[in-house]
Formats: sequence, C-alpha cells, structure tokens
Amino acid sequence: MSEHFDIVIAGGGMVGISLALQLGAVLPVETTILLVEGAPMPAMAESGVPDYHPAFDARSTALSYSSRQIYEEMGVWDGLRQWLCAIESIHISSRGRFGSTLLRASDYCWSGLGYVVENAWLGNALIQLLYRQGRVEMRCPVKVVGAKPDGKRVTLDLECDGLHGHFSTDLLLVADGANSRLRDQLGIAVNEKPYQQHALVANIASAEPHAGCAYERFTDTGPLALLPLLKADGIEHRSALVWTLPAEQARHLRDCDEVEFLQVLQERFGYRLGRLIKVGKRHEYALSLVQSTEQVRKGIVVMGNAAHALHPVAGQGFNLALRDVAALGRVLGEGITAGLAPGDLETLQRYQRGQQSDQDRTIQFSDRIPTLFMHADPVLGLGRDLALAGLDILPSLKREFVRYAAGAVGNGS
Ligand SMILES: Cc1cc2nc3c(=O)[nH]c(=O)nc-3n(C[C@H](O)[C@H](O)[C@H](O)COP(=O)(O)OP(=O)(O)OC[C@H]3O[C@@H](n4cnc5c(N)ncnc54)[C@H](O)[C@@H]3O)c2cc1C
Repeated sequence: MSEHFDIVIAGGGMVGISLALQLGAVLPVETTILLVEGAPMPAMAESGVPDYHPAFDARSTALSYSSRQIYEEMGVWDGLRQWLCAIESIHISSRGRFGSTLLRASDYCWSGLGYVVENAWLGNALIQLLYRQGRVEMRCPVKVVGAKPDGKRVTLDLECDGLHGHFSTDLLLVADGANSRLRDQLGIAVNEKPYQQHALVANIASAEPHAGCAYERFTDTGPLALLPLLKADGIEHRSALVWTLPAEQARHLRDCDEVEFLQVLQERFGYRLGRLIKVGKRHEYALSLVQSTEQVRKGIVVMGNAAHALHPVAGQGFNLALRDVAALGRVLGEGITAGLAPGDLETLQRYQRGQQSDQDRTIQFSDRIPTLFMHADPVLGLGRDLALAGLDILPSLKREFVRYAAGAVGNGS
C-alpha cells in the first residue's frame, strides 16, 4: 500500500481523536485526513451510545470551562454531556494544618467549575462522534513506525501484524503520547524533569454523597485529589482518586489489600465523604514534566503529551492540549483556505507563537503547585496556610485561582 493524505495524525488517544474531530469540522472537505492508532479502537456503536471500553485507561479527566467551550464550538459537547459530572465546588485543604478554602461555581455565576469524566467514556464518546462525522479516514490497530521528511513531504512507514506499508503526507501531527517514539525518531529532543512521585489512580465509593465537590488535599507526601463522578454499577457515591505519593508507597498501596488501602486513605483524607467503603482497580503512573524542545517544523507538529506532559495535580494537561488543538485547527483552516499547503512552516509557526504564552503559564502553574505544597519548611508551611486562608480572605486572589482551575486564563479571557 502507498497512499497520500494531506494530513496524518499519528496516535488516536484523547488528543489525537479531538484533533481529528476538530480538523474534520473546520478544514475544507477536499483536505484529506488520516488518523492512525496503534491499539484496537472501540467499534461503531449502532445506537450511538458507546459501551464502556478499555481502549481508554482507568483515569478520569477534569475538563475545564475552556474545554467545554471548545467542545461546544466543535459541536461535540451535547454528545458528551451524559458522561459528565459537574464540579460545583472545590475544597482545598492541607493535612495537619488550619488553612482550607472552598471555591463555589455559584459565587462566579457559573454552572460548574469543571466537569469530571471517566477516560473510558470520554475516549469512546469522542470516537463515536468521529465515526458519525464520517470525515476522517482511520487505520487501527496500525502503528506509525517510521517518519522521514524530505523537505517536501513526510514519508511514513506503517506496520500492522508484521506487514509494512508506506504513506506520504504534507503534514504529520505527532500525538503518540509522552514517550513518543516518533518524536525521538525525528530527532526532536525533550527536557524531562522527574518529580520522584507516582500517581495512584482508582475509583472510590463513599458512604456520603460528594454533592459535586472536588477535594484537593495537600499532604506531606504529596497532593491527593478526589473528583466527583456520576453514579454507576449500582454505586451511588463515587469519586475518582488521584493520589501523588513517593514511588515505593504508591507501589505498596497499589498492591495491598482493600482494607489496608481504605484505612490509609481514610486517615490521609479524613471523613468529609463519610466512611470510604470500596476501591476499584488501582493503577500507578510515574510522574515527570516532559517538554518537547521543538513543536513545529515544516510539515510536522508535535501535540498533546508528546509536546508537553504535565503533573496531574492541577488537572491541566488535557485541557491545555485541547486549547492547542482548537488553535491549530483555526490557524490551519485560515492557511489552507488562503491556498497554503497544510505543512507550510510559517502557518505552523504562527500556531506555536499563538500558544506559547498559554503553554508557558499553564506549565509553570502545574509545576509550582505540587512542590509548593510539599515543602517541609515550617515558614513556607505557614505561608501556604495563609495562602489558603488568603484565598477566602482575598476574593480577587481566589478569583484568579478559579480562573486558572477553569482554564479561563489560558483561554485568553
Ligand atoms: C493520573 C493522571 C490524571 C490526569 N488528570 C487530568 C485531568 O484531570 N485533566 C487534564 O486536563 N489532564 C489530566 N491528565 C493529563 C491527560 O491524561 C493527558 O494530557 C492526556 O491523556 C494526553 O493524551 P494524548 O492523546 O496526548 O496521549 P496518550 O493518551 O498517551 O495517547 C497516545 C496514543 O498514541 C497511540 N500510539 C502510540 N504510539 C503510536 C504509534 N507509533 N502509532 C500509532 N499510534 C500510536 C497510543 O496507543 C495512544 O492511544 C492526567 C494525567 C494523569 C497521569
């Protein structure tokens, strides 16, 4: 096989699929687009209602208000609504210290500070919407195992079950995740800062309802977040746990029995949700800040986690990637309509210039929070308490924090 597509997206994770939906919506119909994903994808659901599918992992994602606006503009928000739990308030506290603050959506006349969705639903709902859009060709499970730019086009080596084929494209969008092999193959270096922390992720059932409250609790071993989830599988009160811990502790808590796990979590989190009664499957992720040193070249853009993988504590990684997706779609739409090639370097540089300050601010914000709140220095600890108490005392500071949490700052509002 040897075919040409104007644009090829390598990697059909949540960013790759969102990119495909966005480009399918904004680019002229003559622009051919291919999405290549290495893992099997959920099949098209006949009723349009997807099943829970393990192709997308066990994490949940807090979508910001800016992500809602982007999905609304892409025309996919209504298709996602049924899987979303609105965050009506955020309770921020610090274990063993007096400071705490409550941020409420109603104080800002917003319907939600964000929306939590399980990746298994989000990924599958997005892929069903892509099937229905019918605009983008898909190959999966197929891997892009090689990419060679020759100054005019990029030649791609695709592999499926040991069989190889070649495609060419004017624009390769690299969206194959934080450990991107394509990025490495293209000789694009990364700056990596390991956090020496792991994230332990699981769904938790509690005796009391969350009432739409997301809890962010800073402890001496790292931040712990419990995000509100919709009820499912007959479990009424569910929350998604993201618990940042030293590697050894994370591994132990991943593998220990449920009684011990719940005991330790209860002791760390307290009784704001009553007794914690059940934990689902536990997963562990090593955390580092990974930043690609280059994001655009002629005919190439690096996107999503391949471009910047962030600490999850502030829930910003996917939201930032989605703002990149929206911006790239806009800039490419203008360039292609003006008769420029999809891989035109100036067009791609315009995209990057436009996103640079949003990326810098969001990365700095995500990077600062976990280290600030883990500091053992008692003076800094006191400052942190005052900062938390100050969020309540100083409404304008609190508003800034909410604007960040909601993604409004990065969105240029
Ligand atoms: C614990 C945790 C919690 C998080 N919570 C939040 C949150 O609340 N809010 C938020 O905004 N962000 C959050 N994030 C960040 C978010 O999960 C990431 O930003 C997002 O998953 C990045 O998606 P991606 O599509 O870029 O990468 P990935 O999800 O890694 O997808 C890459 C895809 O590429 C495919 N692939 C790989 N190699 C190839 C190849 N050679 N050819 C073809 N396909 C290939 C893979 O199969 C995969 O499907 C969290 C992250 C973690 C770790």
